[in-house]
This record gives sequence, C-alpha cells and structure tokens, in this order.
Amino acid sequence: MITGIGVSAGIAIGRAYLLKKQETALTGLTITDEAAIATEIEKFDKAVELSLIEVNILIDSYHEANGSEGLEILEAHIELLSDPQIKEDVAEKIFAEKKNVNDAVIEVIADAVTMFKNMEDEYMRARAADVEDIGNRILKNLSPTGKAPAHTYPPDTIIIADDLSPSDTISMDTTCIIGFATRAGGKTSHAAIIAKSRGITAVVGCGNLLTEVKNNDLLILDGQSGAIMVNPDEQTIITYQAKREECQAHNLLLKSLKDKPAITTDGIAVKLLANIANADDMEQAHDLGAEGSGLLRTELLFMGRDAFPSEDEQFEFYKAVALKAKGKPVIVRTLDIGGDKPLPYFNLPAEQNPFLGYRAIRICLDRTDIFITQLKAILRASAFGKLKIMFPMIANVQEIRAAKIVLNEAIEDLHKAGISFDKTIEIGIMIEIPSAAITADLLAKEVDFFSIGTNDLCQYTLAVDRMNEKIKDLYDPYNPGVLRLISYVIDQAHKNNIEVGMCGELASDANATLLLLGMGLREFSMSATSIPTIKNTINNNAMGFANQIYERVMAMDNSTTISAYLKEVNK
Ligand code: PEP
Ligand code: MG
Repeated sequence: MITGIGVSAGIAIGRAYLLKKQETALTGLTITDEAAIATEIEKFDKAVELSLIEVNILIDSYHEANGSEGLEILEAHIELLSDPQIKEDVAEKIFAEKKNVNDAVIEVIADAVTMFKNMEDEYMRARAADVEDIGNRILKNLSPTGKAPAHTYPPDTIIIADDLSPSDTISMDTTCIIGFATRAGGKTSHAAIIAKSRGITAVVGCGNLLTEVKNNDLLILDGQSGAIMVNPDEQTIITYQAKREECQAHNLLLKSLKDKPAITTDGIAVKLLANIANADDMEQAHDLGAEGSGLLRTELLFMGRDAFPSEDEQFEFYKAVALKAKGKPVIVRTLDIGGDKPLPYFNLPAEQNPFLGYRAIRICLDRTDIFITQLKAILRASAFGKLKIMFPMIANVQEIRAAKIVLNEAIEDLHKAGISFDKTIEIGIMIEIPSAAITADLLAKEVDFFSIGTNDLCQYTLAVDRMNEKIKDLYDPYNPGVLRLISYVIDQAHKNNIEVGMCGELASDANATLLLLGMGLREFSMSATSIPTIKNTINNNAMGFANQIYERVMAMDNSTTISAYLKEVNK
C-alpha cells in the first residue's frame, strides 16, 4: 500500500498506465548571424500563436458541468501566454546571449518556475505548474513535428505520473480514465483542483514509492484517505467495490443537492452555513453548498505558533477568507481562547476551573491591546467581503457595551488613518452562557444578531464539563432545560427583530433539525460536510410536521423520551 494525499473523493479500481513526462533538453546551439536571430524570434511568435489557438480550442470545448475552475485555469494560461515579459526575456536571451529559441524558452520558463516555487504562499507555489505547462506547450509547438501524438487508453485506466500539468488534467478523457496518482503535487495544485471539480478520483504527493507501480498493475485508489493498494487480494477488491458503490450513491446525493436551496416542502427557506477555521475551509464549504459561514473560529490562527499574529498578518488571513466567501456572509468570532484552548506563548496561569475562568471576551476586555488589534484587522478585511463580528462568552449587557467601546476605538483609529472598511458591519454575540440565554430579551436590544453556541450552553446549563470523558453521558443537549433555553432565545430574537442562528454541534444533528425548525430557527451553521445531510432532511419535510414535533417534544419531561421520539420520527 502507498499513501498519498487524497484530493478528490471516490474509489477507483482499474489498471495502471504509466505516463512518461515529455522531456525537454537544452541543445547548447548558439545563433550568431542577424538573419538567424530574426528567424528564432519568428519561431517563438509562431509557437505562442499556435499555443494560444490550442488553449482557446480547449476553452471553447470546455464543459460547464466540469465546474468553473478548469475554465479559470485555461484563461490564466491565455494571460501567461500573452505576457510580454516572457517574450522580452526570451528575446533577450536570443539577442544578448545568442541562445537558440528552444534553449531560451527552457531557461526563461525554468527561472519563472523557480520564482513561483520559492513564494511563501502555498497557492502561489502551486502556480509554478501553470508556467511549466505553458512552457511545455510553447516548446512542443516549436518543434517541426508539432503536435504530440494523442493517447488512447483502455477503459478503467488509472494514470500514474510524476506530476500532471493542469492541461493534462483538463483534457483527460474521463470515459476511460477513472483516476490518477502522482508522485508530486499537493492539495492546492491545479491537477488536484480540477480532479475534484471533474469528479476524477485522485491521490497526489505519493512520493517515490509510486515509481514501483508497473504498467497494468491492478490498483485501488481511495481518493478520500489517499491510500493506493497495488495488486490487492480478492477480499480487498470486494470490500472496495462495495465502498465504491456507497461513495457513488453519496456523491450523487451531494451533487444533486449542492445548488439546491434548503427549503421545506411547504416553501420555508433555511440558511445552511459552514463553521470554518480558514480560507481553505471556505472553499470546501462552497463545494458542499454552504451559503456562507456562521462561525469563523479565529483562535485557530492564534494557536500552534510562538507569538501573537500581528494586525497585518491577521488582516491578510481575514481578507483571504472574505475573498474566498465570494460575497457571501462570514461571521468572524473574536478570540475565544482559554478553557480548552490555551496559547503556549500567552502564559495564562493554570486555573482550578478553566471553563469558568479567564477566557474569551473576558481576556479581550482585560487585554484591550490584543482585542483592538484583532478588531482593526477584521474591520480592514471587511472592505473585501461581507464580514460580521461576533463576541463569544457574553454573560451580560455590560460586556457587550464594553466590547463595543473597544470596537468604536478601532473604528475611530481606522477613520483617522483613512483606511476603508464596511461601515454597516453587523455586530452579534454568541449565546452560550445560561445567563445570556435567560436575558436574551435584554441582550437583543444591543446587537444585530445572536448565534446559539450549544456546545458551551449545554455544558454550563447542565454543569457538565464538555471535555470530561467520565461524564460524557451527562452531556445532553436534549435535556428539556437546554431545549427551553434555545427556544426562548429564538423567540426573543424574533420578538426583537434580530437574526438568530445556531453554530454549536446541535445544528448538525439531523435528528434535531425538525425540532429546531419548529422552534423557529432558520439559520444553521455546521461543519460543511454535514450540510448535504441536513439539507436533505429539510427538503423532505414540511413545517407542519416540524411544528408538531416541536409541540410534542416541549411537552416531554426528559431527554431519554425526547431522544427516542426524535430518532423514531427521523427514521
Ligand atoms: C459553542 O460553544 O457551541 C461553539 C460553537 O463554540 P466552541 O465550540 O468554539 O466553544
Ligand atoms: Mg463556545
């Protein structure tokens, strides 16, 4: 078994086909006379022209159904091919260094590839493949024989390659190629992105072990886990055939739901959002049909490092998320550290009851230097998308007012500095402490929205440490006390005309979906992979049924009965 990075879910079972890389070699020939120099430049122009025609043909024949990513990549290739800098650099090598056009192109492209590969940003590093791709295309079109011979593959072929160019992946014939595995590559390489959007099972970054695969070996490719089984036994094949069917059925369901709205059979629309930690998550969330993010946990940016991130670093991070959200809303939660999320470089003293201690908004209101830095970074990023700000762990009205004073200071600073931001940015709070839930009527007057954090609300209401394995059975969101609080918060939000969503784990519990709809919840935020399942529940039920479930549950006196009932009605 070989393990790489699974980048495109699905199981492929087929035969290996080893794809050799097109070799490019320097000839070392020099050009001396003037006329020959002009001919070399002409050859280059012709090869670029041919390359542009080829890419335009690929664009014209591109299928919308394959997703927009492939098209965007091809358009980027047109831009690269038209880049005057490349022509200038090639001409310079021919004129000044007397290189022939083949060698000039190889060297210019190699320099550009190195430049991209050395970039900090992982995404930009992966763009080296595009430069290499157009370089190879130009080189192919420089040679007198022109076109590379078109391959034909037997059915159920799995391509094994050192690396694949974006063009290779875009023009891959999926009637016979069912998957590919590459020695190089990462999650954000174009080959991976296109494989995902075209539904080709793919594993990249397999390393040198992949070179041991021989032509015609029987392979099982698991695009989820990244495992590749070479010449597996009969039993493994049978197991994976069953897994493949399951995957296909699930993918079909996901596909059919992605662009459909979440709406009950009697027409009540529901917003399904994703809980995210960074810009990559936002991207995955789109693929799963999220309408934005109901919770960006910013503390993850502060963890796993040895110092606080600067305002600029935070700004870039939030901006990347805002851009990836493509105009959809993102609720940015301010720092929620302490409790179960310590920061090694912040030296918080150990506490007897960390969940009841110095954490989240309490730290921010004490260390306003940390808080204002984050608020300014979020505000600056709000110029690039629809961001909202949310304060965690709010227990009372004074905390909201104090947080808003710091926010106003941040706004004032940006004003003075002439930095743009969204002046209508909405402000909300997490409802995750019982006192906040019980006084939701008071808190609603202070903010634009609530988001119910059932993870903490449950632990504080029931006095059950959410991290303690020993008492995990006592951690029970179906407890009538928890449910009454949730229901009250939703009612109060409606009465006060503010938005209310839920971003705790209960939002992704399919057994609770109809109950929550019956309570009046219309905005659910969860890990993106749960969205299709929850959407499926919403789209197959009517509000009348949800209301009935709500009435019945609220009349029950214990969670064992409630849980059994919800399981039964959701069967
Ligand atoms: C919650 O408490 O429900 C919540 C969403 O926040 P976290 O899990 O990050 O504490
Ligand atoms: Mg919480």
